[in-house]
Amino acid sequence: MGTLICHTCQSTIAHFEDEKVTFLYSKCECKACTKADEESK
Ligand SMILES: [Zn+2]
Repeated sequence: MGTLICHTCQSTIAHFEDEKVTFLYSKCECKACTKADEESK
């Protein structure tokens, strides 16, 4: 099983089908992460 993790707040965004255990980092749509993204521009 694969797990998609937010690299900003470390929360689990989603799970996806995979033959092995995989972790992928992405960005979620939570307020904290959206705010952090705007401040980094
Ligand atoms: Zn997040």
